Amino acid sequence: MSTDHSKELDRKIADAIAVLRRAASEFAPVVFANSLGAEDMVLTDLIARHQRDIRMFSLDTGRLPKETYDLIQEVGQQYTLPLQVYFPNNALVEEYVSRHGINGFYDSVENRKGCCFVRKVEPLRRALAGNGAWITGMRRDQAVTRGTLEVSSFDADNGLQKFNPLLEWSHKDVWAYIRLYDVPYNKLHDQFYPSLGCAPCTRSVTPGEDIRAGRWWWEDPENKECGLHVGHARKAVQGASSTSLQASRERIIEIAAQAGAQQEASA
Ligand code: SF4
Repeated sequence: MSTDHSKELDRKIADAIAVLRRAASEFAPVVFANSLGAEDMVLTDLIARHQRDIRMFSLDTGRLPKETYDLIQEVGQQYTLPLQVYFPNNALVEEYVSRHGINGFYDSVENRKGCCFVRKVEPLRRALAGNGAWITGMRRDQAVTRGTLEVSSFDADNGLQKFNPLLEWSHKDVWAYIRLYDVPYNKLHDQFYPSLGCAPCTRSVTPGEDIRAGRWWWEDPENKECGLHVGHARKAVQGASSTSLQASRERIIEIAAQAGAQQEASA
């Protein structure tokens, strides 16, 4: 690493730590949504070293690649911070699969966003409930859908503040940090998977391709968000709400209401 890049990285690390401190002091309790991608491994390391009162969680969609499960295990061994894993509501997944098929997400953008809603968005909402802020590893130059992001903004859809401490970091910064601090990372990154998600929806990229080209590669770039980061991608998500996604949401409300009634009955 050149001296100039080293200085720049030091400044970005200090800025990111300051953002984490501000979040923890002004918005406690704060959670970090750890996707286990390279950026989020940098944040895992920063939080473990500097701001351990931020709680960490990951979403297990049930369709993750083996390498991601290996990394979850490694994080548990290397860091003493607990990583809480949230799973989808089984009734919702069963409902989705019976309507659309086990791989129905390939059939249309609506079906794909419906699957992401059931496997990611609904568990995310449970994970965020009751917190004052959440932390993500989103970077501005990752995708066309992320150009308008801010370091800190109110996430009206989830009702809490959202912080993106690595917003101005480059891909090079992320990997310089990982090498410098010997941070564990997903081994798929070594096989040309710069952006990781569920196994059936992620492929490797070739040199020169956009870093998110391997995510939902059969769709237009404008659609490439899963609904976890709703605000800046609202248009794409709302565009998918007409049929199956709307049906999934309605079903979620219905099943959640049933679950609530059952809990009350057994209380
Ligand atoms: S990334 Fe693919 S498998 Fe994972 S939740 Fe979204 S559509 Fe479903």
